[in-house]
Amino acid sequence: MSEKIEKRAAASSAQTKPPAAQVPATQATSASVSCPSCTAEISPAALDANLKVCPSCGYHFRMEPGERIAYLADPGTFVEFCRSMTSLNPISMEGYEEKLSEAGRKSNLSEAVVTGTCEIEQIPVVLALMSFSFMGGSMGSVVGEKITRAMLKGLKTRRPVIIYTTSGGARMQEGIFSLMQMAKTASAAAELDRAGIPLFMVLCDPTTGGVTASFAMLGDIAIAEPGALIGFAGPRVIEGTIKQTLPDGFQRAEFQQDKGFVDLVCPRRDQRSLLVKLLKAHSGGNA
Ligand SMILES: [Zn+2]
Repeated sequence: MSEKIEKRAAASSAQTKPPAAQVPATQATSASVSCPSCTAEISPAALDANLKVCPSCGYHFRMEPGERIAYLADPGTFVEFCRSMTSLNPISMEGYEEKLSEAGRKSNLSEAVVTGTCEIEQIPVVLALMSFSFMGGSMGSVVGEKITRAMLKGLKTRRPVIIYTTSGGARMQEGIFSLMQMAKTASAAAELDRAGIPLFMVLCDPTTGGVTASFAMLGDIAIAEPGALIGFAGPRVIEGTIKQTLPDGFQRAEFQQDKGFVDLVCPRRDQRSLLVKLLKAHSGGNA
């Protein structure tokens, strides 16, 4: 069955091109940053030292894949795969190539997800980390393909798979090809489930649309970052549709935990130790 999925994955419209730029460890800037929650002025160095969390109020700023790898992975163990995979323009959407180039320049990434293997406290895992900076973390053929391959790598090597999600949804510039990624990633998640290999999801701000509607909700355990927006359609669309005012904190991580969509909300500083605990608990005595 896994072979079947692998063949399906290989037949996707994704194609390999020369390697893109390195994953940035941090985004360098000299100006101080204003917290959108409490308006405190924070120096970039203080923000980086605090894992991009406001020291005054605990607001979680968005984080890039390279920064998360630096926090999560044992030093020197992260080995990226599928880095050279870049998007084509399957429905010949005007201006898409330019948008991709601009997103690559701005984010210093080749696509909206970084995938690789690493060790966390010497436990081998597969890690996939999405970036909102690259076209709003939208899922096109390459994002779907890389997420699928990450899960299949976990299946093949029997490593638990950890996925950090952040996405505005399906990539409209790839039309139906983006929607196909929902079925493909969900099939791979089902394969992991059948093989008894853990899939841990960490839902970051925002996790919405086609990503929520597919693999993001299929983890064995759904962890969320504090304050993260998690849902399918956004609050404004829902409010406009049902013509009712939504409750405070609607679709935020804490609200979704209360409603049972999220298993636990975990502050960033505690995520590594939580993942280690979960990995050990699900190792079957091998870790
Ligand atoms: Zn703050």
